[in-house]
Amino acid sequence: MKVHHLNCGSMRPPLVPGGIVAHCLLIETDDGLVLVDTGFGTHEVNDPSQTIDPLSRKLLRPLLDINETALRQVEKRGFSAGDVRHILLTHLDMDHAGGLRDFPGATVHVLDTELEAAANPRTTKDKMRFPAVQREGVTFRTHHATGEDWFGFEAVRDIPGLPEDILIVPLIGHTRGHSGIAVRSDDGWLLHAGDAYFYRGEVETPPSSIFALKLTVKQTETIRTQRLANVERLKELKASGEVEVFCAHDPVELARLG
Ligand SMILES: [Zn+2]
Repeated sequence: MKVHHLNCGSMRPPLVPGGIVAHCLLIETDDGLVLVDTGFGTHEVNDPSQTIDPLSRKLLRPLLDINETALRQVEKRGFSAGDVRHILLTHLDMDHAGGLRDFPGATVHVLDTELEAAANPRTTKDKMRFPAVQREGVTFRTHHATGEDWFGFEAVRDIPGLPEDILIVPLIGHTRGHSGIAVRSDDGWLLHAGDAYFYRGEVETPPSSIFALKLTVKQTETIRTQRLANVERLKELKASGEVEVFCAHDPVELARLG
């Protein structure tokens, strides 16, 4: 399958040199287009106050450029919104689910625990990070990990409507239903690890990070022990060289793959 790496949401958080991106995938399958995450959409660009709370706007400083939306990038490649049949989400945070309403014909796949957490927010933080309006009119299909094996990870396989080479790989921690999305591209296996980590150095040996991002990771995580355990597993997977592992927000990883 042909996989395009897109940036659907540049952000310029203070004290992060070079800023961060919203790394999304556009996959060409025999049966239409598939998106992995959507970044910020046209609704955020047109009226950011509707879905991005003031604190997040201050901390993330999103650029909100219409040309970075997944919709515009799909159109730029000669396709239309209707060609996007499926969207897989690493999780439902606003900077990953912002573009959902730009693709009303798509089925959106997410873990059951993620949609449940977003629909019934337990904290003010959860209410802010999962604005309900982003999910209005969206067709969801929820999944539960079956325990099948993918390079030692549990995975959701055989997702209806999708090729068998696209899998959901639960990486719980950042949110309750956070997942990676695995795709076997023309060049081998890719794992979009979402917000399991924020900076490439976190999965290198020895690990490294940027102070401001370290703080962001901590402030946004939901189940710390599980997130840290998953970072260790991702480190091993990356070191094995069998899978190209990358996260949602590292611009250097995106430049390497894009
Ligand atoms: Zn994020």
